[in-house]
Amino acid sequence: MLHVPGHPVERARFPVIDIHTHLAFSAKSEKGVAMGEERKFLATAEELLEVMDRKNIRIMVNLTGGTGAGLAKSLKRYDEVHPGRFLTFTEPLWGRSHQADYPKFQAEEIAQAKQAGARGLKILKTLGLYLRKDLTSGPLIKVDDPRFDPMWDTCGELSLPVAIHVSDPEAFFLETDRFNERFEELSNHPTWSFHGRDFPSNRELLEARNRVFARHPKTQFIALHVGNNAENLASVSECLERFPNMHVEIGARIGELGRQPRTARKFFDRFQDRILFGTDAVPNGVETPQQIFGDKLYEIYYRFLETEDEYFDYAPAPVPPQGRWQIYGLGLPEGVLQKVYNGNAARLLGLRD
Ligand SMILES: [Zn+2]
Repeated sequence: MLHVPGHPVERARFPVIDIHTHLAFSAKSEKGVAMGEERKFLATAEELLEVMDRKNIRIMVNLTGGTGAGLAKSLKRYDEVHPGRFLTFTEPLWGRSHQADYPKFQAEEIAQAKQAGARGLKILKTLGLYLRKDLTSGPLIKVDDPRFDPMWDTCGELSLPVAIHVSDPEAFFLETDRFNERFEELSNHPTWSFHGRDFPSNRELLEARNRVFARHPKTQFIALHVGNNAENLASVSECLERFPNMHVEIGARIGELGRQPRTARKFFDRFQDRILFGTDAVPNGVETPQQIFGDKLYEIYYRFLETEDEYFDYAPAPVPPQGRWQIYGLGLPEGVLQKVYNGNAARLLGLRD
């Protein structure tokens, strides 16, 4: 029964670069590890462009562009047909990570992917939570395993930013019981729980990630989902202070940011040069309502960033999918908005206006 004014935002104030979208996925995967190069595409470029033009989205960055022949297909389907509207990231070939020559092989693959047109590297949470010594069996491979060092270094040398997803929300590491604030979500998706078994803690995963940031200062990292610690902006702030090569992106975390609007607003002011706009949008992503690509999703993000509206939905869904609360807008000033919407991403991607 709350009566407060609402200010819908249909178009973003400035052209948007959405740094975090998924326009394709690996066609085959086993226990969370992608196998082979084949891609499954989720939408045509034309379907996407209609929404992009309406919502003032200049560029969509498809993070899961794949490798080899799959990457070539991704580039052909989006980047090459509509230059300037789509950019594609490549991914590591996890399927070879258990082989002795992998470090060198993977570094060379990255260089080839850049040649082919890839604009960055994407790391899914596969690293740290799924990838094991013998791919799908044996102990989990650590995020800071030295076999990946040549890959991180090559990205730095070739000015390819690394969009990295490590760990997951804090609640996913706790028991799925009545005390878990994301009980419904975890009950709907039991495989998202990393409680128990041989999973490392949230903290151990983020610390391993931090050691990678520290070891590769010339490589630019975009820590997705607000560094996967949006519930704890004090901790994210500490990391951003420690690692000048770390940036964050806000995809699928406005539910977290928007329930602490005063803390979040200060965070945006302080790190306005290091925060990137992203949504984690998945065309037809019905399983994750907070990520369904479309007009409604972008309108919520714009309202959150641009207005001071109070207590509204953070996802286009009848029930808030990541916890039953609502959010408050940040009302960011124009200068900060412009950096978050496109300036920071353009700089990292090496784009010129
Ligand atoms: Zn994502």
